Amino acid sequence: MEVLVYPDPVLRRGGKAITTFDAELRDLAGRMMEAMYEEGGVGLAAPQVGIEKKLLVLNPSGDRNERSGERVLCNPKITRKKEREFGEEGCLSFPGIHAEVERWIAITVTYQDLDGKEQVLQTDGWLARIVQHELDHLDGVLFTDRLTAADKLRVKPQLQKLEEEFRART
Ligand code: ZN
Repeated sequence: MEVLVYPDPVLRRGGKAITTFDAELRDLAGRMMEAMYEEGGVGLAAPQVGIEKKLLVLNPSGDRNERSGERVLCNPKITRKKEREFGEEGCLSFPGIHAEVERWIAITVTYQDLDGKEQVLQTDGWLARIVQHELDHLDGVLFTDRLTAADKLRVKPQLQKLEEEFRART
């Protein structure tokens, strides 16, 4: 399973609602979790591996030995949100780029688990930030879209380098 890197156009496609909750979906979530650990990330959205589904996996510790932190969210939606703050983010689809992004501090997310059962997650801080970052991927939104004007300017050379590398690969 390969994580797509900016500016791969597939990253802009986002994901479609999941309607079938079967062994195949469970297997996909497991492989995504593995790819996330492999790449040293704390979250991964299906569009990042070229799959147009509203599916995301995360573990705030990024540590495969801390399985209790693992979460799989299908069709997630933010239903409540409170206050904003800036915090540093990176993205497996933007190797080497880190920048401050403004997010909601506290959110309530409704989603379905791998059995299709409705669940509610109330969270804040780091976990809330990861969920919002990954949720953006499901809409084809990338964290660099949300940077301040100054940071957009600062990371521009790094983005251009990724664009050149992409052209060389394709
Ligand atoms: Zn990302």
